Amino acid sequence: PLPLFLEAKSHATTDPSKIAVIDRTKNESFTYTQLLADVSALKKQILDYLNIDSTAGLDEQRVAFLAPAGYDYVVIQWAIWAAGGVCVPLCTTHPTKELLYTMSDSDPSLIILHPSFQKLETPLREGVAKVPFMTVSPFTESRTTPRIPPFNTTALPLSKRALIIYTSGTTSRPKGCITTHENITFQARSLVDAWKYSPSDHLIHVLPLHHIHGIINGLTATLLAGGTVEMHPKFDPKAVWDRWSDKGSSTLFMAVPTVYSRLVDYFDVKIRSTDAEAAARAGSNALRLVVSGSAALPTPIKQKFAEITGQTLLERYGMTEIGMALSCGLETDKRIDGSVGWPLPGVKVRLTEKGSGRVVQGVDEEGMIEVRGNNVFKEYWRLPEVTAKEFTEDGWFKTGDVAKRDQTGAYFIQGRESVDLIKSGGYKISALEVERKMLVFEDISEVVVVGVADQEWGQRVAAIVKQRHGTAPLELKQLRTQLKEEMAPYKIPTVLRIVDSIERNAMGKVNKKDIVKKYFA
Ligand code: ATP
Ligand code: MG
Repeated sequence: PLPLFLEAKSHATTDPSKIAVIDRTKNESFTYTQLLADVSALKKQILDYLNIDSTAGLDEQRVAFLAPAGYDYVVIQWAIWAAGGVCVPLCTTHPTKELLYTMSDSDPSLIILHPSFQKLETPLREGVAKVPFMTVSPFTESRTTPRIPPFNTTALPLSKRALIIYTSGTTSRPKGCITTHENITFQARSLVDAWKYSPSDHLIHVLPLHHIHGIINGLTATLLAGGTVEMHPKFDPKAVWDRWSDKGSSTLFMAVPTVYSRLVDYFDVKIRSTDAEAAARAGSNALRLVVSGSAALPTPIKQKFAEITGQTLLERYGMTEIGMALSCGLETDKRIDGSVGWPLPGVKVRLTEKGSGRVVQGVDEEGMIEVRGNNVFKEYWRLPEVTAKEFTEDGWFKTGDVAKRDQTGAYFIQGRESVDLIKSGGYKISALEVERKMLVFEDISEVVVVGVADQEWGQRVAAIVKQRHGTAPLELKQLRTQLKEEMAPYKIPTVLRIVDSIERNAMGKVNKKDIVKKYFA
């Protein structure tokens, strides 16, 4: 059987009452034992529905599914795996058009729709003709102790495909990344080792479940280790602060930088200087580990979060294609501001020079991050040319992200080669570095730095700024004066746009190509 099922079975055997998932929408708790029993039953239902013999199984056929973040999501995902299928998790907030793109691109043999999305059935059926739809009944907490099912999944070698996750679509149309059971087990286990997940961990899960961050780092790693995942339907700062204020009731939290920014804002507006302050501070302080990733963590957010909670956020770096590759350390002195740390166990990382591909060794020398290991995906779904282009001849995956290292080998992400590295007047400028330095100013709430084409300079450094509520309008001249103390003159933006809001995708990321088109076309 697959390692995830084997581990779950051993957690269920060790402690039949051990809770695997708490569903905050249903307000019900589900043991590992029940999870395995429900998975086994749904697996049978799926195979019966498709008229497939259970020994043959789905044999890598895709099953796309739409379910809210909660227990039913986990049962559906694991049942597809148990049936030998490839999971294609759909995004609960996507408009029909986007859902249809993922559904038709992944070419599924079955679409599973959770009853809470019943409304979408008709438009979706019209969009993907011929693919059978199946609706699952919601699962409820069992009053009696179910028995652990036998789970005969021997027909499922680790090398079989398990998952298609679509990239966040930050730079172009989302690409489907296929990973095998070996890949995802390796990705999750490497985090379990590095971050020491254990059965006593209790994760408050608020991330979307169609991306690697929520699926692997959150759900899979915690369940692999025998912990408890408390699934919230979506991120709500009040709900998180309420739960943290109940000291000792959770240990783990992971999110993207915008989530931390909203938690800090919520604390400042609703909790600071109220009766609730002491419990919120003490409860959040008692958490074992709080992790940030998916986009660069602005140092001011890290500092404000630390002031409130006493927690130093642990930053890590990864992507859909490779899972996590770099991570700061569990020891707080190994969480360097602006750094994503060192390679995770079993993951090989190197930097190479653009063009020549020469491996870069020196301190502070920039290079493209390349990754190798069992964590690396197999291929982009039905995009063989793209897959071929993104691997070197000797098998390293080219991430497209540029970084440099300090004397200890800690990595500092400079940004994406394609949009974050601005070339102006012969200089190379990291947009992420300029963003980081600009965010230090109190009147700047959010900033996006891009390069805009310019006849004289090649590119100019442009800043799109959302100001903090109630601050005086920022002017370019004043901004430039402020920044003189912070950075070399050629890095200082020469173009400034003040905007009311900055558009971000489900993972809190900005599509810089769209921004350039919108403001500078
Ligand atoms: P697409 O590939 O469709 O353009 P995407 O690259 O944003 O979208 P993901 O795979 O979700 O899709 O994100 C991976 C990218 O996120 C990385 O390549 C990197 O640019 C960025 N990233 C992840 N973690 C960090 C971090 N800690 N700091 C800076 N950037 C990060
Ligand atoms: Mg990408």
